[in-house]
Amino acid sequence: MLTPATFAATELNALRERHLYRTLRETERLDPPYVLRQGKRLISFASNDYFGLSVHPEVIAAAQEALARYGAGAGASRLVEGNHPYYAALEARLRAIKGTEAACVFGSGYLVALGVIPALAAKGDLILFDRLCHACMIDGVELSQAGWKRFRHNDMAHLQALLAEERNKYRRCLILTETVFGMDGDIAPLDEMIALAKRYDAMTLTDDAHGLGFVLPNSEITLQTGTLSKGVGGYGGYVCGSAELIDFLVNKARSLLFSTALPPAVAAGAARALELLQTDASLAAKPLEMADYFAKMMGWEAPQTPIIPLIVGEDEKAVALGQQLEEAGFFVPVIRPPTVPKGTARLRLSFAAFHSKEQVETLAFFLRKLL
Ligand SMILES: *Cc1c(COP(=O)(O)O)cnc(C)c1O
Repeated sequence: MLTPATFAATELNALRERHLYRTLRETERLDPPYVLRQGKRLISFASNDYFGLSVHPEVIAAAQEALARYGAGAGASRLVEGNHPYYAALEARLRAIKGTEAACVFGSGYLVALGVIPALAAKGDLILFDRLCHACMIDGVELSQAGWKRFRHNDMAHLQALLAEERNKYRRCLILTETVFGMDGDIAPLDEMIALAKRYDAMTLTDDAHGLGFVLPNSEITLQTGTLSKGVGGYGGYVCGSAELIDFLVNKARSLLFSTALPPAVAAGAARALELLQTDASLAAKPLEMADYFAKMMGWEAPQTPIIPLIVGEDEKAVALGQQLEEAGFFVPVIRPPTVPKGTARLRLSFAAFHSKEQVETLAFFLRKLL
Protein backbone atom coordinates (compact mmCIF):
# COMPACT_ATOMS: atom_id res chain seq x y z
CA MET A 1 0.00 0.00 0.00
CA LEU A 2 1.27 3.42 -0.92
CA THR A 3 0.54 5.60 2.10
CA PRO A 4 1.08 9.36 1.93
CA ALA A 5 4.21 8.97 4.07
CA THR A 6 5.89 6.33 1.89
CA PHE A 7 5.02 8.15 -1.32
CA ALA A 8 6.59 11.38 -0.07
CA ALA A 9 9.64 9.61 1.36
CA THR A 10 10.26 7.77 -1.91
CA GLU A 11 10.03 10.96 -3.92
CA LEU A 12 12.28 12.83 -1.51
CA ASN A 13 14.91 10.11 -1.59
CA ALA A 14 14.96 10.25 -5.36
CA LEU A 15 15.58 14.01 -5.18
CA ARG A 16 18.37 13.57 -2.62
CA GLU A 17 20.10 11.00 -4.82
CA ARG A 18 20.06 13.42 -7.73
CA HIS A 19 21.32 16.34 -5.59
CA LEU A 20 18.05 18.13 -6.24
CA TYR A 21 16.67 18.08 -2.70
CA ARG A 22 15.78 21.55 -1.42
CA THR A 23 15.18 22.92 2.06
CA LEU A 24 13.91 26.22 3.38
CA ARG A 25 16.72 27.88 5.26
CA GLU A 26 15.93 30.74 7.58
CA THR A 27 17.42 33.93 6.22
CA GLU A 28 17.03 37.24 7.99
CA ARG A 29 17.68 40.29 5.87
CA LEU A 30 19.90 42.69 7.80
CA ASP A 31 21.02 46.01 6.34
CA PRO A 32 21.35 45.05 2.66
CA PRO A 33 23.41 43.39 1.28
CA TYR A 34 23.92 41.56 4.59
CA VAL A 35 21.82 38.57 5.59
CA LEU A 36 21.84 36.34 8.64
CA ARG A 37 21.61 32.81 7.37
CA GLN A 38 21.33 30.19 10.09
CA GLY A 39 23.29 32.37 12.49
CA LYS A 40 25.94 33.39 9.98
CA ARG A 41 26.30 36.93 8.64
CA LEU A 42 26.87 36.82 4.88
CA ILE A 43 27.10 39.35 2.05
CA SER A 44 24.24 38.42 -0.22
CA PHE A 45 24.29 38.42 -4.01
CA ALA A 46 20.91 36.71 -4.11
CA SER A 47 18.32 39.45 -4.04
CA ASN A 48 16.03 40.61 -6.83
CA ASP A 49 15.54 43.86 -4.92
CA TYR A 50 17.90 45.44 -7.47
CA PHE A 51 17.41 49.04 -6.41
CA GLY A 52 17.13 48.43 -2.66
CA LEU A 53 13.61 49.89 -2.78
CA SER A 54 12.23 47.39 -0.24
CA VAL A 55 14.11 49.29 2.47
CA HIS A 56 13.96 52.80 1.03
CA PRO A 57 12.78 55.20 3.78
CA GLU A 58 10.19 56.82 1.50
CA VAL A 59 8.74 53.47 0.47
CA ILE A 60 8.52 52.38 4.10
CA ALA A 61 6.89 55.70 5.06
CA ALA A 62 4.28 55.41 2.28
CA ALA A 63 3.47 51.85 3.33
CA GLN A 64 3.31 52.79 7.01
CA GLU A 65 0.90 55.62 6.33
CA ALA A 66 -1.40 53.30 4.39
CA LEU A 67 -1.06 50.62 7.06
CA ALA A 68 -2.10 53.04 9.80
CA ARG A 69 -5.05 54.28 7.78
CA TYR A 70 -6.44 51.08 6.25
CA GLY A 71 -4.99 48.26 8.32
CA ALA A 72 -3.11 45.09 7.50
CA GLY A 73 -5.28 43.45 4.87
CA ALA A 74 -7.51 44.32 1.90
CA GLY A 75 -10.48 42.37 3.24
CA ALA A 76 -11.75 41.03 -0.08
CA SER A 77 -10.96 40.66 -3.76
CA ARG A 78 -10.70 43.81 -5.87
CA LEU A 79 -14.05 43.10 -7.49
CA VAL A 80 -15.72 43.06 -4.08
CA GLU A 81 -14.41 45.37 -1.33
CA GLY A 82 -10.66 45.26 -1.81
CA ASN A 83 -10.18 47.94 -4.48
CA HIS A 84 -8.65 50.54 -2.18
CA PRO A 85 -7.91 54.06 -3.48
CA TYR A 86 -4.19 53.25 -3.64
CA TYR A 87 -4.77 50.94 -6.57
CA ALA A 88 -5.74 53.75 -8.93
CA ALA A 89 -2.53 55.65 -8.16
CA LEU A 90 -0.42 52.53 -8.59
CA GLU A 91 -2.06 51.66 -11.91
CA ALA A 92 -1.70 55.22 -13.18
CA ARG A 93 2.03 54.95 -12.55
CA LEU A 94 2.33 51.58 -14.27
CA ARG A 95 0.38 52.85 -17.26
CA ALA A 96 2.65 55.87 -17.57
CA ILE A 97 5.82 53.78 -17.30
CA LYS A 98 4.69 51.22 -19.87
CA GLY A 99 3.06 53.71 -22.22
CA THR A 100 -0.27 51.88 -22.28
CA GLU A 101 -3.89 52.95 -21.92
CA ALA A 102 -4.52 50.77 -18.91
CA ALA A 103 -2.98 48.62 -16.19
CA CYS A 104 -4.28 46.12 -13.67
CA VAL A 105 -2.62 44.99 -10.45
CA PHE A 106 -2.88 41.37 -9.31
CA GLY A 107 -1.87 39.58 -6.11
CA SER A 108 1.48 38.42 -7.52
CA GLY A 109 3.39 37.96 -10.74
CA TYR A 110 2.61 34.26 -10.61
CA LEU A 111 -1.11 35.01 -10.39
CA VAL A 112 -0.89 37.33 -13.40
CA ALA A 113 0.39 34.49 -15.60
CA LEU A 114 -2.15 32.01 -14.23
CA GLY A 115 -5.00 34.43 -14.87
CA VAL A 116 -4.02 36.23 -18.05
CA ILE A 117 -2.71 33.42 -20.27
CA PRO A 118 -5.85 31.25 -19.99
CA ALA A 119 -8.01 34.35 -20.56
CA LEU A 120 -6.27 35.00 -23.88
CA ALA A 121 -5.96 31.49 -25.26
CA ALA A 122 -8.02 28.32 -25.02
CA LYS A 123 -8.59 25.07 -26.91
CA GLY A 124 -8.20 25.75 -30.61
CA ASP A 125 -5.61 28.49 -30.02
CA LEU A 126 -1.83 28.25 -30.19
CA ILE A 127 0.76 29.47 -27.67
CA LEU A 128 4.41 29.73 -28.68
CA PHE A 129 6.87 30.40 -25.88
CA ASP A 130 10.60 30.61 -25.25
CA ARG A 131 11.85 27.37 -23.75
CA LEU A 132 13.41 29.24 -20.80
CA CYS A 133 10.16 30.97 -19.80
CA HIS A 134 9.41 31.06 -16.08
CA ALA A 135 7.38 28.29 -14.42
CA CYS A 136 4.35 30.57 -13.98
CA MET A 137 4.04 30.99 -17.74
CA ILE A 138 4.31 27.24 -18.31
CA ASP A 139 1.56 26.72 -15.74
CA GLY A 140 -0.56 29.40 -17.41
CA VAL A 141 -0.13 27.63 -20.75
CA GLU A 142 -1.09 24.30 -19.18
CA LEU A 143 -4.21 25.80 -17.59
CA SER A 144 -5.29 27.39 -20.87
CA GLN A 145 -5.61 24.01 -22.66
CA ALA A 146 -4.37 25.71 -25.83
CA GLY A 147 -2.01 23.93 -28.20
CA TRP A 148 1.60 24.94 -27.58
CA LYS A 149 5.16 24.72 -28.91
CA ARG A 150 8.39 25.98 -27.43
CA PHE A 151 10.95 27.90 -29.44
CA ARG A 152 14.68 27.75 -28.74
CA HIS A 153 15.88 30.41 -26.36
CA ASN A 154 15.76 33.86 -28.00
CA ASP A 155 15.81 32.16 -31.42
CA MET A 156 13.53 34.22 -33.67
CA ALA A 157 14.30 32.08 -36.72
CA HIS A 158 12.89 29.11 -34.83
CA LEU A 159 9.87 31.15 -33.76
CA GLN A 160 9.30 32.14 -37.37
CA ALA A 161 9.55 28.52 -38.52
CA LEU A 162 6.95 27.48 -35.94
CA LEU A 163 4.64 30.31 -36.97
CA ALA A 164 4.98 29.37 -40.63
CA GLU A 165 4.28 25.71 -39.88
CA GLU A 166 1.57 25.99 -37.23
CA ARG A 167 -0.14 29.37 -37.22
CA ASN A 168 -2.88 28.67 -39.77
CA LYS A 169 -4.03 25.53 -37.97
CA TYR A 170 -5.30 27.60 -35.04
CA ARG A 171 -7.71 30.44 -34.28
CA ARG A 172 -5.76 32.87 -32.06
CA CYS A 173 -2.00 32.77 -31.50
CA LEU A 174 -0.11 34.09 -28.48
CA ILE A 175 3.67 34.46 -28.19
CA LEU A 176 5.22 34.52 -24.71
CA THR A 177 8.66 35.58 -23.57
CA GLU A 178 10.47 37.27 -20.71
CA THR A 179 12.13 40.64 -21.32
CA VAL A 180 15.14 39.73 -19.18
CA PHE A 181 15.59 36.04 -18.40
CA GLY A 182 15.82 35.70 -14.67
CA MET A 183 18.33 32.87 -14.50
CA ASP A 184 20.48 33.99 -17.44
CA GLY A 185 20.37 37.76 -17.39
CA ASP A 186 20.06 38.08 -21.17
CA ILE A 187 17.50 40.17 -23.07
CA ALA A 188 14.86 38.91 -25.51
CA PRO A 189 14.91 40.26 -29.11
CA LEU A 190 11.61 42.06 -28.63
CA ASP A 191 11.59 44.11 -31.84
CA GLU A 192 11.99 41.00 -33.99
CA MET A 193 9.33 39.21 -32.00
CA ILE A 194 6.88 42.08 -32.44
CA ALA A 195 7.55 42.14 -36.19
CA LEU A 196 6.90 38.39 -36.47
CA ALA A 197 3.73 38.72 -34.40
CA LYS A 198 2.41 41.38 -36.77
CA ARG A 199 3.26 39.32 -39.81
CA TYR A 200 1.56 36.20 -38.50
CA ASP A 201 -1.34 37.88 -36.73
CA ALA A 202 -0.30 36.85 -33.23
CA MET A 203 -0.63 38.51 -29.83
CA THR A 204 2.45 39.02 -27.67
CA LEU A 205 2.86 38.86 -23.92
CA THR A 206 6.11 39.74 -22.16
CA ASP A 207 7.01 39.10 -18.54
CA ASP A 208 9.14 42.00 -17.33
CA ALA A 209 9.78 40.56 -13.85
CA HIS A 210 13.54 41.19 -14.08
CA GLY A 211 13.51 43.84 -16.78
CA LEU A 212 12.06 46.91 -15.10
CA GLY A 213 14.71 49.62 -15.27
CA PHE A 214 16.90 47.60 -17.66
CA VAL A 215 14.75 47.10 -20.76
CA LEU A 216 12.66 49.86 -22.30
CA PRO A 217 8.91 49.28 -22.26
CA ASN A 218 7.32 48.80 -25.68
CA SER A 219 3.64 49.59 -26.13
CA GLU A 220 3.51 47.54 -29.34
CA ILE A 221 3.54 44.44 -27.15
CA THR A 222 -0.06 43.31 -26.68
CA LEU A 223 0.30 42.80 -22.92
CA GLN A 224 3.27 43.76 -20.77
CA THR A 225 3.19 41.89 -17.49
CA GLY A 226 5.51 42.02 -14.52
CA THR A 227 5.91 41.85 -10.79
CA LEU A 228 6.07 44.36 -7.96
CA SER A 229 8.03 41.82 -5.92
CA LYS A 230 11.50 42.28 -7.42
CA GLY A 231 12.90 45.63 -8.55
CA VAL A 232 9.89 47.42 -7.08
CA GLY A 233 10.79 45.91 -3.72
CA GLY A 234 7.31 44.96 -2.51
CA TYR A 235 4.85 42.33 -3.60
CA GLY A 236 2.23 41.93 -6.32
CA GLY A 237 1.95 41.62 -10.09
CA TYR A 238 0.57 43.68 -12.95
CA VAL A 239 -0.51 43.61 -16.56
CA CYS A 240 -0.52 46.62 -18.88
CA GLY A 241 -2.23 46.96 -22.27
CA SER A 242 -5.12 48.54 -24.14
CA ALA A 243 -8.15 49.72 -22.15
CA GLU A 244 -10.31 47.11 -23.83
CA LEU A 245 -8.00 44.18 -23.09
CA ILE A 246 -7.53 45.22 -19.46
CA ASP A 247 -11.30 45.58 -19.12
CA PHE A 248 -11.63 42.09 -20.56
CA LEU A 249 -9.06 40.71 -18.07
CA VAL A 250 -10.85 42.34 -15.13
CA ASN A 251 -13.85 40.29 -16.20
CA LYS A 252 -12.08 37.06 -17.11
CA ALA A 253 -8.83 36.55 -15.20
CA ARG A 254 -9.80 34.06 -12.51
CA SER A 255 -6.72 34.71 -10.37
CA LEU A 256 -7.85 38.35 -10.08
CA LEU A 257 -11.53 37.59 -9.55
CA PHE A 258 -11.14 34.88 -6.95
CA SER A 259 -8.12 36.00 -4.94
CA THR A 260 -7.93 38.67 -2.24
CA ALA A 261 -6.53 42.07 -3.23
CA LEU A 262 -3.04 43.08 -2.15
CA PRO A 263 -2.95 44.77 1.26
CA PRO A 264 -3.36 48.53 0.69
CA ALA A 265 -0.01 49.24 2.36
CA VAL A 266 1.72 47.06 -0.22
CA ALA A 267 0.04 48.96 -3.06
CA ALA A 268 1.00 52.31 -1.51
CA GLY A 269 4.63 51.23 -1.05
CA ALA A 270 4.84 49.99 -4.64
CA ALA A 271 3.47 53.26 -6.03
CA ARG A 272 6.12 55.23 -4.16
CA ALA A 273 8.86 52.81 -5.23
CA LEU A 274 7.88 53.21 -8.90
CA GLU A 275 7.92 56.97 -8.50
CA LEU A 276 11.46 56.85 -7.08
CA LEU A 277 12.62 54.59 -9.89
CA GLN A 278 11.23 57.02 -12.46
CA THR A 279 12.76 60.11 -10.90
CA ASP A 280 16.15 58.95 -9.59
CA ALA A 281 18.34 58.08 -12.58
CA SER A 282 21.43 57.33 -10.47
CA LEU A 283 19.50 54.74 -8.47
CA ALA A 284 18.33 53.08 -11.67
CA ALA A 285 21.87 52.89 -13.08
CA LYS A 286 23.65 51.49 -10.01
CA PRO A 287 22.89 47.72 -10.22
CA LEU A 288 24.28 47.42 -13.74
CA GLU A 289 27.34 49.46 -12.76
CA MET A 290 28.09 46.96 -9.99
CA ALA A 291 27.55 43.95 -12.28
CA ASP A 292 29.75 45.55 -14.90
CA TYR A 293 32.51 46.15 -12.36
CA PHE A 294 32.31 42.53 -11.20
CA ALA A 295 32.52 41.20 -14.77
CA LYS A 296 35.60 43.34 -15.38
CA MET A 297 37.24 41.99 -12.20
CA MET A 298 36.54 38.45 -13.40
CA GLY A 299 37.73 39.14 -16.93
CA TRP A 300 34.26 38.29 -18.27
CA GLU A 301 32.34 40.07 -21.00
CA ALA A 302 30.16 43.01 -19.97
CA PRO A 303 26.71 41.89 -18.75
CA GLN A 304 23.44 43.18 -20.25
CA THR A 305 21.67 43.26 -16.90
CA PRO A 306 22.61 42.92 -13.19
CA ILE A 307 22.06 39.15 -13.36
CA ILE A 308 25.22 37.15 -14.07
CA PRO A 309 25.02 33.36 -14.23
CA LEU A 310 28.08 31.25 -13.55
CA ILE A 311 27.10 28.03 -15.28
CA VAL A 312 28.79 25.07 -13.62
CA GLY A 313 26.94 22.16 -15.25
CA GLU A 314 26.68 19.35 -12.72
CA ASP A 315 24.29 19.89 -9.82
CA GLU A 316 26.71 18.50 -7.24
CA LYS A 317 29.56 20.75 -8.36
CA ALA A 318 27.37 23.84 -8.28
CA VAL A 319 26.22 23.01 -4.75
CA ALA A 320 29.85 22.55 -3.63
CA LEU A 321 30.89 25.89 -5.10
CA GLY A 322 27.97 27.62 -3.39
CA GLN A 323 29.05 26.09 -0.09
CA GLN A 324 32.63 27.25 -0.52
CA LEU A 325 31.44 30.79 -1.14
CA GLU A 326 29.25 30.60 1.92
CA GLU A 327 32.22 29.57 4.00
CA ALA A 328 34.02 32.64 2.67
CA GLY A 329 31.13 34.86 3.81
CA PHE A 330 29.01 35.21 0.66
CA PHE A 331 25.52 34.06 -0.14
CA VAL A 332 25.21 33.25 -3.82
CA PRO A 333 22.22 31.04 -4.69
CA VAL A 334 22.75 27.75 -6.46
CA ILE A 335 20.14 27.23 -9.16
CA ARG A 336 19.40 23.65 -10.25
CA PRO A 337 16.83 21.86 -12.40
CA PRO A 338 13.90 22.15 -12.78
CA THR A 339 14.46 25.91 -12.40
CA VAL A 340 17.07 25.66 -15.20
CA PRO A 341 17.57 22.94 -17.85
CA LYS A 342 19.38 19.73 -16.87
CA GLY A 343 23.16 19.98 -16.99
CA THR A 344 23.18 23.76 -16.55
CA ALA A 345 23.25 24.08 -12.75
CA ARG A 346 24.67 27.44 -11.89
CA LEU A 347 25.43 30.11 -9.39
CA ARG A 348 23.19 33.09 -10.00
CA LEU A 349 24.82 36.34 -9.03
CA SER A 350 22.62 39.40 -8.82
CA PHE A 351 23.94 42.87 -8.20
CA ALA A 352 22.07 45.70 -6.58
CA ALA A 353 22.29 49.39 -5.78
CA PHE A 354 23.27 48.58 -2.20
CA HIS A 355 26.45 46.69 -3.08
CA SER A 356 29.72 48.57 -2.61
CA LYS A 357 32.72 48.30 -4.91
CA GLU A 358 34.71 46.72 -2.06
CA GLN A 359 32.09 44.01 -1.60
CA VAL A 360 32.12 43.27 -5.31
CA GLU A 361 35.91 43.16 -5.31
CA THR A 362 36.10 40.70 -2.41
CA LEU A 363 33.57 38.42 -4.06
CA ALA A 364 35.56 38.46 -7.32
CA PHE A 365 38.77 37.80 -5.38
CA PHE A 366 37.35 34.69 -3.65
CA LEU A 367 35.56 33.41 -6.70
CA ARG A 368 38.68 33.61 -8.83
CA LYS A 369 40.52 31.54 -6.24
CA LEU A 370 37.80 28.87 -6.36
CA LEU A 371 37.51 28.58 -10.14
C1 LIG B 1 9.70 35.95 -10.12
C2 LIG B 1 9.00 35.82 -11.39
C3 LIG B 1 7.61 35.73 -11.42
C4 LIG B 1 6.78 35.65 -10.18
O1 LIG B 1 6.52 36.90 -9.66
P1 LIG B 1 5.99 36.98 -8.15
O2 LIG B 1 5.46 38.35 -8.02
O3 LIG B 1 7.17 36.70 -7.28
O4 LIG B 1 4.93 35.93 -8.01
C5 LIG B 1 7.00 35.70 -12.64
N1 LIG B 1 7.70 35.70 -13.78
C6 LIG B 1 9.03 35.77 -13.79
C7 LIG B 1 9.75 35.79 -15.09
C8 LIG B 1 9.73 35.82 -12.60
O5 LIG B 1 11.05 35.86 -12.60
